[in-house]
Amino acid sequence: MSLSKDQLRSLLTQVVCAQQDPLDCDRCYEHVAEFAEAELTGKPLCEALQAVQTHLQSCPCCRDEYQALMEGLREVLQNECNDSGSGIVDA
Ligand SMILES: [Zn+2]
Repeated sequence: MSLSKDQLRSLLTQVVCAQQDPLDCDRCYEHVAEFAEAELTGKPLCEALQAVQTHLQSCPCCRDEYQALMEGLREVLQNECNDSGSGIVDA
């Protein structure tokens, strides 16, 4: 993971401003699975999910949660792909 200076600066600003975050950890937690799924499937982010994304950038706790979820979801999706992949083969 590499961050530019600007990204680092905005990250720091977000940490400092975390208390003004419109989304608290509870609300973030409610939507984080949806957000992870949207990320993986490339769905556009609705407003609620954009708020989740912003919160994740400023909240290490929720980011951990999100990363764990992503790993789990990725495995599920991969398994699904493998299943349907083998089903499609008709020679
Ligand atoms: Zn949080």
